[in-house]
Amino acid sequence: MRTVVITGGPCAGKTTALGALRALSERAGVPAIFVPEAATDLIIGGVAPWTCASMLEFQTRVMALQLEREAEAMSQAEAAAQAERRANPDVLVVCDRGICDSHAYLDDDDYARALTANGLAEGDVLARYDAVFHLETIAKTSPEAYTKANNRARFENASEAAAVDDRGVAAWAAHPNFHVIPSYADFERKTAALVDAMREFAGIDLRERTQSSPILVSACLLGEPCRYDARSVPCDAVRTLGRDHELVPVCPEQLGGLPTPRIPSEIQPDERVADREGNDRTDAFLAGAQAALRIAREHGCRKAILKAKSPSCGVHEVYDGSFSGIVIPGQGITAALLADAGLEIVDETQVRP
Ligand code: SF4
Repeated sequence: MRTVVITGGPCAGKTTALGALRALSERAGVPAIFVPEAATDLIIGGVAPWTCASMLEFQTRVMALQLEREAEAMSQAEAAAQAERRANPDVLVVCDRGICDSHAYLDDDDYARALTANGLAEGDVLARYDAVFHLETIAKTSPEAYTKANNRARFENASEAAAVDDRGVAAWAAHPNFHVIPSYADFERKTAALVDAMREFAGIDLRERTQSSPILVSACLLGEPCRYDARSVPCDAVRTLGRDHELVPVCPEQLGGLPTPRIPSEIQPDERVADREGNDRTDAFLAGAQAALRIAREHGCRKAILKAKSPSCGVHEVYDGSFSGIVIPGQGITAALLADAGLEIVDETQVRP
């Protein structure tokens, strides 16, 4: 069982990130218990800094509710662990803020008082959590994009929000597994950075596995020495996709029965395929394309990443048939067949590293 805190300054995209984590944990099959933010619920319920006698009173109440919720979450996590019947179940408790967040609103003395009132010792608080991920508020990088409109419990203006963010970082900085996720304007990018950090620093892998949607790939891009000259053209960006996808390698020219090495071929102006010595290779290219399509269907591939400019695999351009290195717009024989069959086709230049 592991307990993580997702925290951050006001307007940090925390709600969006937590929603994404919830969906990802379900898809990844990782049992997760989410602890909602105590301060927000108190404010919405009518207990706010401005209704309490002091910020100390309010934060003492926040801590009390946080502790109650964490205890309930731990008991739910233990029940989930037992239900899983595994010796060391990978149950996750995700806290929307944690005890130390109160320190962002209290000076050292009042923070110590709030801890004492809740039966906590300052030295023990950090150890409650295995990892802490702080989402930086957008108020620090793009104050004009900061808003209070999407949260009834948010009361800080942009400069106050930035200052709270700094104090929040200071409050958690001593945690041995503390990480700051920078403020990207794009929430998807921020969530992806959070998921990556959770995997890298806490060993929690919530990446969406897409094994159900394998990708057809030109074998030479994966290091197969299947080109006409018996060499390969390995592409790291494509090979890296293998961490998340099943990659299905095919070499249509080999599948069509052509030997390796072989005399290079190009598509001719009359759409037949001929090798450099004038031998007609059209039938072999068509057979290889049909075989590649059959394999794509057998594996359920909806996408193909193909080698650029090849007379079989080229997606946007091919050589013009003169064997003089001139490329023209067009598709290879296999690429065209896959596209006609409804597969999304791209070449390796379109795969981001
Ligand atoms: Fe690579 Fe495609 Fe040529 Fe085979 S046919 S070597 S997979 S480009």
